[in-house]
Amino acid sequence: MTKRLYLSLGTNLGNKRENLTRAIEFLSLAFGKCVAASRFIGTAPWGFESDNSFLNCAVAFDIDLAPLELLDITESIERKLGRTQKSHGGHYSDRIIDIDILLYGGSIIESERLTIPHPLMHKRDFVLEPLAEIAPDIEHPVLHKSIKQLMEENKEQTLSK
Ligand code: ADP
Ligand code: MG
Repeated sequence: MTKRLYLSLGTNLGNKRENLTRAIEFLSLAFGKCVAASRFIGTAPWGFESDNSFLNCAVAFDIDLAPLELLDITESIERKLGRTQKSHGGHYSDRIIDIDILLYGGSIIESERLTIPHPLMHKRDFVLEPLAEIAPDIEHPVLHKSIKQLMEENKEQTLSK
């Protein structure tokens, strides 16, 4: 059964517009036509210190693949675009491209390699803001709130810190 897949793309090295554009091209080769794409939005590094700001976007595809196949494909595209390092234990670093799986229809998955919905998506403005451009009203299958709602709550949380 076809499900809508939402991905978050991020880059903070090299030609960032080109990195996102190439990632979307490779994703379209693997998943078919990109059915929605946000603007490319510049954001500050999150969770680590870096002089290199990020460019982020959110994209959607309609597909029917097993979740782990999705991850194999997105990881192989990260490598094709030149990403060599993974993040470990919450330690983040500069990257040419990061492709994170946010939502896959209403799927809820918790395995060693893959958690869907992405466990930090509702805490990251750089994920929620682009996603809200293309899917403001879809419901998070675990938190049962819309993306717009999650974005507003996260903004309030950040302000009250
Ligand atoms: P980050 O995106 O947090 O900077 P990485 O891209 O290096 O870190 O990914 C670290 C690991 O996160 C990957 O090896 C992958 O197995 C795991 N992972 C778990 N859930 C997801 C998801 N929804 N999307 C992408 N990767 C995920
Ligand atoms: Mg990632």
